[in-house]
Amino acid sequence: MKTLYFITGSQDLYGEETLAQAQKDAEEIAQFLHEALKDVVDVKAMPIVRCTGDALNICIQASGDADCVGVIMWMHTFSPAKMWIRPLQALRKPMVHLHTQYNEKLPYDTIDMDFMNLNQSAHGDREFGFVCTRLGIAREVIAGYYRNPEVLAQLRRFAEAALAVDYSKHLRVAMFGNNMRDVAVTDGDRVESEIHFGWNVNYYGIGDLCDLVEEISHEEIDAKMAEYSEKYTMATDDIQAVREQAKYEVALEKFLAKENIGAFTDTFQDLHGLRQLPGLSVQNLMTKGIGFGPEGDYKTSALGAVLWEMAKHRNGATGFMEDYTYDLTAGRELELAAHMLEVPPVFAADKPEIQVHPLGIGGKEAPARLVFDGIDGDAVAVSLVDMGNRFRLVCAKIKLIAQPAPMPNLPVARLMWTLVPDFATGAAAWIYAGGAHHAVVSTALQTEDIRLFAKLTDTELVIIDENTTLHTFEQQLALLDLTAKLKG
Ligand code: MN
Repeated sequence: MKTLYFITGSQDLYGEETLAQAQKDAEEIAQFLHEALKDVVDVKAMPIVRCTGDALNICIQASGDADCVGVIMWMHTFSPAKMWIRPLQALRKPMVHLHTQYNEKLPYDTIDMDFMNLNQSAHGDREFGFVCTRLGIAREVIAGYYRNPEVLAQLRRFAEAALAVDYSKHLRVAMFGNNMRDVAVTDGDRVESEIHFGWNVNYYGIGDLCDLVEEISHEEIDAKMAEYSEKYTMATDDIQAVREQAKYEVALEKFLAKENIGAFTDTFQDLHGLRQLPGLSVQNLMTKGIGFGPEGDYKTSALGAVLWEMAKHRNGATGFMEDYTYDLTAGRELELAAHMLEVPPVFAADKPEIQVHPLGIGGKEAPARLVFDGIDGDAVAVSLVDMGNRFRLVCAKIKLIAQPAPMPNLPVARLMWTLVPDFATGAAAWIYAGGAHHAVVSTALQTEDIRLFAKLTDTELVIIDENTTLHTFEQQLALLDLTAKLKG
């Protein structure tokens, strides 16, 4: 089980009795947080920190512990913060600074200086906060009584983001082929992606996959077809075309498992040896948390896997989507998002249908795909772009809506939404920010989750929400450009 260390700062001045009490209080708080968060992470109380040596040992231990995904810091008493400088420089895990107290209320009748000495996080947490700010440490500060439901919700959010960061650092991504020729936004610096996010992104020849496809047995295809029949409605007579996709999915599963890969891309321009563009096979894989980006879009693929990991303890749907076309009726503008084939069925409003239709691009056989109408609800769309000197996350609030009328001639799955705060502002802001036509859409995550992920990975972020105005938004983009240049 992944773990958050609960680290309590103090110093030697208070004497053994006070320090023993501080340790006991810290253990009680850590145990309470553990019970509250144990479906997501373990919370483990660490020995109270009295000096630089204690702090350094604990920060090095956290950094080297593969199960530790982050630390909760709390200064129960005063902890002179020069003793935290070298330890914090050694800390390599996400930090939340929990500004809380053991007691909720002041004991007006009995309060004395002993109480004040023990319970002085108002004092100690400011000293600790100064040194974090002075060192430029990206951390989340959560203030309030530790049993307060709002505080617990924020800690849970931090834990989920920390798990996603940990997952990100171990993610391997396969690109079958490269990115679609001449397309700009799907391209990116793969070395920088690994330095910044931890993503190990590598190219594989589609032939490596084709070799595996050829080895898939009839029994393996039958088993996959049984899975399809259970989950989806077979709405085609062309069973051979469906079996072809089943074969691709089994081969992809084997390939990804063998190489320990969590996300992948393909491209319709490099399918030599495959009879169809992978459609149904990719759609079904995306229901299992495998990240996918079409046209060699490794950034969206990896981001999809990471955000899936962040959202996996919640209700809701998370997956790849593409901006496709609009209904531009004034004041009632709607976006229709879809793709050639690969729309994840996590967004299906009803049981998806397996259909087979020709594809007008790529020159391959008619591929099997899942077709469905999309769900409604509040969501975010998140795009990751490479700005040359840094990455930028663009996060827009959107509202998924039920399709207003049937689309009997559209042979792909789709999702519809409205933009926030309105179409003109939301669309223009996305375009000013350089947001891609590919995004990860999630009804499970909110802008706060993306903000936290951006902070913990030191990634630039712009948010488009109900407060966005274009003038201020463009000024923000100009400031971000300037900041990036100053950082060099
Ligand atoms: Mn696309």
